[in-house]
Amino acid sequence: MTAPDCIFCKIIQHEIPSEIVYEDEWVTAFKDLSPAAPVHVLIVPKKHIASLTEAADEDAALLGRIQLAAAKIAARMGIQDKGFRLINNCGADAGQVVMHVHYHMLGGKTLGWSPD
Ligand code: 5GP
Ligand code: ZN
Repeated sequence: MTAPDCIFCKIIQHEIPSEIVYEDEWVTAFKDLSPAAPVHVLIVPKKHIASLTEAADEDAALLGRIQLAAAKIAARMGIQDKGFRLINNCGADAGQVVMHVHYHMLGGKTLGWSPD
């Protein structure tokens, strides 16, 4: 369920420090090290899945759990009313750097739309 050299697995297991803002049975969320917005949280499944292209049918509920957690995290971070964006970078063209599925939650300001 975890990968030995994965930095996000180590964060999930509390082996390396991070600012965890939410945790449940399936999901961990922590502040991004290099925030791109006033609120920038990474929401990750506790199960190691390298990218969305590696997810299987058995992961359907887990992926749903991430979005349900996002709503709770938004409330906790005080951006529930103003809104937020959830982004998954999958693969090279999207700029995925960490090969453990994660969703960027961005908020706390009016966001531009261009992906450039
Ligand atoms: P990606 O480009 O893979 O979608 O995004 C990876 C994100 O992980 C980046 O925004 C980067 O700042 C963040 N990140 C990388 N290493 C760490 C870390 O050790 N701790 C935290 N909190 N964030 C990290
Ligand atoms: Zn991992």
